[in-house]
Amino acid sequence: MFKKTLLIDLDGVLNQYKGDFNKDIIPPVLNGAKEFLNKISQKYDIKIFTTRNKLKTVKWLIENELDIFIIDITDKKELAWAYIDDRCIQFRGDFKQLIHDLEIFKPWYHN
Ligand SMILES: [Mg+2]
Repeated sequence: MFKKTLLIDLDGVLNQYKGDFNKDIIPPVLNGAKEFLNKISQKYDIKIFTTRNKLKTVKWLIENELDIFIIDITDKKELAWAYIDDRCIQFRGDFKQLIHDLEIFKPWYHN
């Protein structure tokens, strides 16, 4: 079965990152992330989208038993059906709206 690809960010989506980046420590897995990946990986090919060290990321995925849901890790914006990120703003074809969305933007953990 053909599966669409999703690129999913690591920090602030799959883990408990709250804006305090440390390149040596990947925060603990976020509650519900495993169940989420389990569910959507049945329909989509999942790639982790991160600039973190690839080996550290692989180790973290294995330790958290998430590796079985993931087909690759990339730091490039590869072709995908959708991108899931804690710091993205969706462009809806309207630049005025985009400026507004940018001005009110906050990651979910800064509420
Ligand atoms: Mg992030």
